[in-house]
This record gives sequence, structure tokens and C-alpha cells, in this order.
Amino acid sequence: MNNIYLFDVDGTLTPAKSKIDRGFKNNLRDWIEGKEVYIISGGTFPRLIDQLSLEIIEMTSGIFPCMGNIFHQKRQQSNDNGYSEWDTIYENKFVAPRNLVRSLNSIVSKSEFPIKASIHHEKRTGMMNFSIVGINADKELRKEYEEWDADKQERKSIVQKLSDKYPSLDFVIGGAVSIDIFNKGGDKSQVIERHLKEAIEYNQIHFVGDRIAFPGNDYSLAQVLKQHPNGEAYEVESWRDTAKLLKTPPFTS
Ligand SMILES: [Mg+2]
Repeated sequence: MNNIYLFDVDGTLTPAKSKIDRGFKNNLRDWIEGKEVYIISGGTFPRLIDQLSLEIIEMTSGIFPCMGNIFHQKRQQSNDNGYSEWDTIYENKFVAPRNLVRSLNSIVSKSEFPIKASIHHEKRTGMMNFSIVGINADKELRKEYEEWDADKQERKSIVQKLSDKYPSLDFVIGGAVSIDIFNKGGDKSQVIERHLKEAIEYNQIHFVGDRIAFPGNDYSLAQVLKQHPNGEAYEVESWRDTAKLLKTPPFTS
């Protein structure tokens, strides 16, 4: 049996929304060589290239941005200019119920977190990203919200409230400060159903993520893998844990 490796990005290969550590990038590049590796993240494709570098992205067997609601694979041959070309293998649509945006705006205005930056929701392929502190918040403000949320558990209670109100949608705590919203089943676990269903019968699939506990955005995929004899999930707290993990079996084989 061969090994297939899946990685979350924010909090797993990089600090949240930041670029990969330079030293770790070199180690990761050496490690990936000759392995079947996929990246699965809530972020968009351009953001993942910015975070991980095109060099790392091009070494993978495929990229699942937007919680696996879109899947890109590199063509075998580059174009005439020497640039890599990518195919979109599938792409899901997310249509927000009209009242959803109203609910999100009302949650933002009622939140007791004192400082907010602009843009609280953003549509991505197959999903919506929701942030009380604001998608345009800088690092400092995001950190403030992260600490405040850890104390108040605001996102957890919002997820509960919205899940009751919109049973056709799934809400998960994503990244350090936001909530990801998608159609039921449109979460990270779909990459198994849509792309690796056959592969998991003949390979070992290993997934590394930092939000494996419910209601984290790695939970669904981790659950599907743990329920399969050929699947396994590993929880890390930061890319430093991942760096250590890559030096241990089954990541060394
Ligand atoms: Mg993460």
C-alpha cells in the first residue's frame, strides 16, 4: 500500500493567513519529493500560492481550495512560456439564502467585540467566509479577537445559533478568527468522496490539520478518515508540530 498525504494550511503548514516559514519550506520541499501530497484549505487558490509558494504548490498532486469545493491539478506539460498550467477538475456553487446575509450583519452589530475592520462576509467557490472582526483586520486586531473569542467562545455560540436557523447549511469554526459556511456535505470531507474514494481502498491516507476537534474545519475530513481502516488523522497545534511529525513514521516512508 502506498501513502497519500493531505495537509491543511493555516495553523498546519503556516501560521494563520501568513507565509510558510523559510526553513520549513525547504524541509517540506525535500519531503514532498516523490510523494503523493494534496493541500486542502478554506483559503482561495491565489492565497495558497502566496502562502506556500508556487514551487511547493507545483510539487503537489492537487490543490483543494475553499474547503475542497474546487479542485485544481497541474497539467503534465507547461505552456510555451514555461509556466505551469492548471485544470479545474470540479467546482461547486454556493447560493446563500437571502436571509443569511441579514443574519450575519445582525450578528456583527450585536457582537460585543469593540473594534471591527471592514468586510464581514465574502463569497468563495462553494462557500462563504464570515468574520466578526472583519476580513480586512490586521494581524494585531485578529490576534485580539482570537484571544477574546477563546475567552468568550463567541464563534462557538454563533455556530450553534446559525446551525439551528439554517439546517441546510453547515457552519464551522475556520482559521483563527472566522466561520466557514457551506451547503451540507460541502466541507473538507468531500475530497474523499469526490476524488479519493477509490484511492483509499488501495492506499493509506493521512491527513494533518490543526482543527480536528468539533466544530473545527478539519473535523469532517478527520472523521471520515478515522472511520475507514485505511485512513488516519493527526492533530497539530502549529507548523512546528507538523515539521516534527514529518520526521516520524508513517511520514518518513
Ligand atoms: Mg487550519
